[in-house]
Amino acid sequence: MQFISTRSGMEPASFTDILLDGLAPDGGLVVPASIPQVSAAQLEAWRTLSYPELAAAIIGLYATDIPTADLARLTAAAYSPQNFPGGVPLRRVDNTLVLVGLSEGPTMAFKDLAMQFLGQAIPYVLAATGRELTILGATSGDTGSSAEYAFRGQPGVQVVMLSPRGRMSAVQRAQMYSLQDPNIHNLVVDGVFDDCQDIVKTLSSDIDFKTRYRIGAVNSINFGRIAAQIVYYFWAWLRYTDGTFSRALNDAAAAAAPPPAPGGAGGAGAGASQVDFCVPSGNFGNIYAGHLARCMGLPIRRLLLATNENNVLEEFFTTGRYTPRSRERTFATSSPSMDISKASNVERFIWQVLGEDFLAAWAQLGATGTLDMRDYLPEFGETFGFAASSSHHADRLAAIEWTYRTSGILIDPHTADAVTVARRLSDGVVPVLAMETARPEKFAHTVREAVGDVADGLEERLAGLLALPQRATQVPADPEAVREYIATHCA
Ligand SMILES: *Cc1c(COP(=O)(O)O)cnc(C)c1O
Repeated sequence: MQFISTRSGMEPASFTDILLDGLAPDGGLVVPASIPQVSAAQLEAWRTLSYPELAAAIIGLYATDIPTADLARLTAAAYSPQNFPGGVPLRRVDNTLVLVGLSEGPTMAFKDLAMQFLGQAIPYVLAATGRELTILGATSGDTGSSAEYAFRGQPGVQVVMLSPRGRMSAVQRAQMYSLQDPNIHNLVVDGVFDDCQDIVKTLSSDIDFKTRYRIGAVNSINFGRIAAQIVYYFWAWLRYTDGTFSRALNDAAAAAAPPPAPGGAGGAGAGASQVDFCVPSGNFGNIYAGHLARCMGLPIRRLLLATNENNVLEEFFTTGRYTPRSRERTFATSSPSMDISKASNVERFIWQVLGEDFLAAWAQLGATGTLDMRDYLPEFGETFGFAASSSHHADRLAAIEWTYRTSGILIDPHTADAVTVARRLSDGVVPVLAMETARPEKFAHTVREAVGDVADGLEERLAGLLALPQRATQVPADPEAVREYIATHCA
C-alpha cells in the first residue's frame, strides 16, 4: 500500500514512512492511494477474531510493510485486557439504538483506541531504524492525556505536551499531571488552547529545530490513528449482526428488546444487515474512519454526523458549503472535545469526492474562505451517504436523562450529542449504532445537571486518581520558552 498527499506534492510512501509525522511535506494530508476491498466472505471469516486479531487484519491492509506477526504483537499489546478491561462493548438503549463503547481505555475517551496503537507502532518503527522522536503537541484535554498514557515509558520517545493553564477539568489535569514517567513532559502554558497550538505550529515550521530535536506529531490527522479507528466500525457491525454484543451487555434493556437473530447476516452488501452509525464529530477523524470502512465494503447505510453548537460540519453536509470559522466564532460548550470550527480531516474526504477538481476547489477555499461542493458536484448531499444535525446544551441534558430513563445507562455529553442526532435522524427501521466517545465520569458536572442525584458517586470513582501527586512545568505563552525546554530536556 502506498500513501500520497491530497495536494499531489509527495512521493508515494509506505505506512511506516508516514507514521511519525502529521502533515505531508507539501502541507496536504496523507491518504492511501487506493482503498483495500473486503469481500463478504472475508467479512464473515473475521467473525471469530478477537479485537486485537481483527485490528491486525484491518490495519494490515494499510500497513503492508509491517510483517504480519509483528503487527499481531503490536495490536495484542495495544488492545490488552489491562488497557481495555471492558473491551469495546455494545449496549442496547432501545429497539433501534445501540451504543458502541469506545471509551473503555486508560483515559476514558475514544482517542485511546487509536493512540494505544501508535504507542506500540511508533516505538517499533523507531527501534527498527535506530531513531528517536520527540512528540510535540497541544491539548485542551483528551488528546494529550491519551497520547501520554500510550507513550509513557516507551523507549526512544519523549512526549512534550502543552496545555492551557486553568482551562481543563480536574479529571483531565489529574490524568496528565499525575504521570511521573521521565519521558512525559507536561508544560502548562500561561494562555489558552490556541496559544498552545500556535507555539506548536511555530516550532514545527522551524525545519532546523524540527530536524535537530526529531520533532514528530500524533495529532488527529496522523493516518496511523485513522487506520486504527477503522477497526471498531467492523467490530461493532460484526458484533451487532451476530447478536454477541459483549460482556458489558445491558441485560435488562436487552431482555425488553432482543437483538436480531444470530447469523442473519449475508455479508457485505446484504440489505438486512445494513446499519447506520452516528458519530459525535469535531475534527472529522472518527467519522472519516467510518467512511473508509464503508468504502472498504462494510454494509453501512448512512453515517450520521452529530455536531454541537459549533456546527460547521452540519452546514457542510446540509448545504454543500464548507466554511471554517475563526476562533472568535467558536463557542465553548458542554461537549468541549467537539469545539472545533476547522475540521482538518475533511480535506481527505473532499479530495476523494472531487478527484481532479480538488486542487482548484481547495484554492477557492483558500482565497474566499468558502468551498461550495455543488459548484463541482451539483448532486452533492445525502446521496453520498452522510446526514448531519446539531445538538445544543439543552438537547444534551435531555439525551442524558432519556438514555438513563430508557436503559439505565449513564452517558457523557459528547455521546449525548450522538444520541440526540441519532434519534432525530433515525428512520425507526434501520438500527443506529451510536459511538460512545467518553465515559460519564470524565464529565460528571454536566451529567449531574441532567440527572441530579443519579450522578452521585461518579466523581468518587475517580477519587484515587484525583488524590495522586501532580507534576508539571509552568511556561509563558512564548515559543522561545518551549524551545529552550526541549533543548535542555530532550537533546
Ligand atoms: C476528539 C473527540 C471527539 C471528536 O472526534 P473527531 O475525530 O475529532 O471528530 C468526540 N468526542 C470526544 C469525547 C472526543 O475526545
